[in-house]
Amino acid sequence: KPVIIIVVGMAGSGKTSFLHRLVCHTFDSNKRGYVLNLDPAVMSLPFGANIDIRDTVKYKELDYVLVDTPGQIEIFTWSASGAIITEAFASTFPTVVTYVVDTPRSTSPITFMSNMLYACSILYKTRLPLVLAFNKTDVADHKFALEWMEDFEVFQAAIQSDNSYTSTLANSLSLSLYEFYRNIRSVGVSAITGSGMDDFFKAIEASSDEYMETYKADLDKRK
Ligand code: GDP
Ligand code: MG
Repeated sequence: KPVIIIVVGMAGSGKTSFLHRLVCHTFDSNKRGYVLNLDPAVMSLPFGANIDIRDTVKYKELDYVLVDTPGQIEIFTWSASGAIITEAFASTFPTVVTYVVDTPRSTSPITFMSNMLYACSILYKTRLPLVLAFNKTDVADHKFALEWMEDFEVFQAAIQSDNSYTSTLANSLSLSLYEFYRNIRSVGVSAITGSGMDDFFKAIEASSDEYMETYKADLDKRK
């Protein structure tokens, strides 16, 4: 059975570039990947449920199905069709959500936090294992992000030094996010240079195992 990787993230974060890089990587390592492009036109079809990827794809021969999502993130994450598609995958295959972060554009603590809150809402909406892919590490190293995620005091210090913002709310939010960070995996990648791909696939394998142990059992219970 293939692992389904649903790629979400803000417009311009590099989802499409990252998917192309993933396809090259799977090809190079003798794995079979298939990209599924969900653009808004497809999602607004009233008979969406009749489209079955198994009709066109020999899924038993695939290792990964890589799902590209529309530019505007909310179209996929907060629409009924997005939820239907996600659940259709997740009820049949191990499914992992990958949230792509534009690392160079997330170096300010408040922008970073907004991005993480969005990722957090997706985790709770989909209830699937989540991998954060800090993209564009060829432009900016994601080390700062890992430090902020590992130690909320380091993050709070960064917020305090950003005097453009009232820090009380940010401080309490950062404590909640700390709990979120403990439940996800994060890797630094570059869709341009291809760095971090092996780490990314390791995170996907671990998340797929987690899906089998936790999410699948939960899904079966809800049926
Ligand atoms: P999407 O809207 O999330 O699908 O983003 P795209 O894949 O269309 O990429 C948006 C822009 O970011 C394009 O100009 C890409 O060339 C650029 N980009 C994507 N990934 C990387 C990366 O890893 N490094 C750099 N430097 N630029 C990137
Ligand atoms: Mg795109």
